Amino acid sequence: MIGGIGITSEIDFSQFFCWNKDCPDYGINNQGNIALKERYGKNNHALLKCKTCKKCFSETRGTVFFQLNTPEEEILRTVAMIPEKGGIRGLARATGHSKDTICRWLEIAGNHSKEVTNYFLTNLNLKRVEVDEIWSYIKKAKKCNRRGS
Ligand SMILES: [Zn+2]
Repeated sequence: MIGGIGITSEIDFSQFFCWNKDCPDYGINNQGNIALKERYGKNNHALLKCKTCKKCFSETRGTVFFQLNTPEEEILRTVAMIPEKGGIRGLARATGHSKDTICRWLEIAGNHSKEVTNYFLTNLNLKRVEVDEIWSYIKKAKKCNRRGS
């Protein structure tokens, strides 16, 4: 925790990243570039500001996996292993996460494909072809979510 500024203590800024595609820090969290600008609305949402490009965005845009208990990095690293493990079942066996959990992650990843792709390319240093392969698995895996949620 970095103290001293005294604006807020409850936001974990390392969870957020800049949403401005032209920003050098776009899509990369834990860069220390995110700060609180102000609170707004009846839910007291935080408006965050990227110190690198000076653009603002809402915390609700925050992170792809904001609502889950598992750290984003672990989720995306797990998802990235899917080609290597040959699919959800292999991935579940290799990582110890349940198939249901992995299906949920894939579903969320699929809904945020741009951010997830960016994460794979920048944070995990994957090549474009590797990322494409991951997506082909994620698309195939979509069937596993057809239970109505
Ligand atoms: Zn920025």
